[in-house]
Amino acid sequence: CGIVGYIGNKKASDIIVKGLERLEYRGYDSAGIALLNGQLDIKKGKGKVQNLKKKMKANPNDSLVGIGHTRWATHGAPNDINSHPHVSESGKIALVHNGIIENYNTLKKELKNKGRTFHTDTDTEVIAQLIEEIYENGDGEEITFEQAVQMALQQVVGTYGLAILNVEEPNRIIVARKGSPLLLGIGDGEMFVASDASPIVEHTKKVVYLDDGEMAIVTKEGYDVKTIEDEPLTKKVHELAMSI
Ligand code: GLU
Repeated sequence: CGIVGYIGNKKASDIIVKGLERLEYRGYDSAGIALLNGQLDIKKGKGKVQNLKKKMKANPNDSLVGIGHTRWATHGAPNDINSHPHVSESGKIALVHNGIIENYNTLKKELKNKGRTFHTDTDTEVIAQLIEEIYENGDGEEITFEQAVQMALQQVVGTYGLAILNVEEPNRIIVARKGSPLLLGIGDGEMFVASDASPIVEHTKKVVYLDDGEMAIVTKEGYDVKTIEDEPLTKKVHELAMSI
């Protein structure tokens, strides 16, 4: 339902939790966050962003990069395990997802046949597992993580707004969009990602809207937008008129 991500020089959890609060108006059943600080720290569960805030207070994390999500369950009951972020089997890849993966059952069966174990009932977990399967066992040759994401998204049927973290690439967030909105907020030495402008507008007015079939590699210094078929794109930077 709602996505927020941050990469920069500030405490990511503060910005992400506040951003999730800004997205509460959309409605949701669960909330979660993944912070990357040498390793992934995931806190999530059924219930309000307020609960997530309490979990962050009890176990703070100074990480400068992270992604957060408010879920409106479509596949799998609203419970702690099915809350986003979802991780790959190795625990190295974490992602949040808005939308519905229509062919998740077929993909799940194939991945199970390849020996992967699933821990949730969501369509979303399939994306994390598929990316890792391709990344680890690729098409016979060494591929980059970015290429693995592209290849996975080409196999996925359905809609997605996605934000992805990989422990092996701690200085970037990969995002992608098809049928579910996603935009980038351009700061000074920091970048924001979100599913609508409400979590971004208090930080920056400069935004880039992704279109369907596009992805972005987001670092604290900037962003690189391309199609999921790897064609480079130059995007228009929009000025947000709204204020809070
Ligand atoms: N289909 C996903 C799920 O049920 C994402 C739902 C959403 O957009 O919040 O977990």
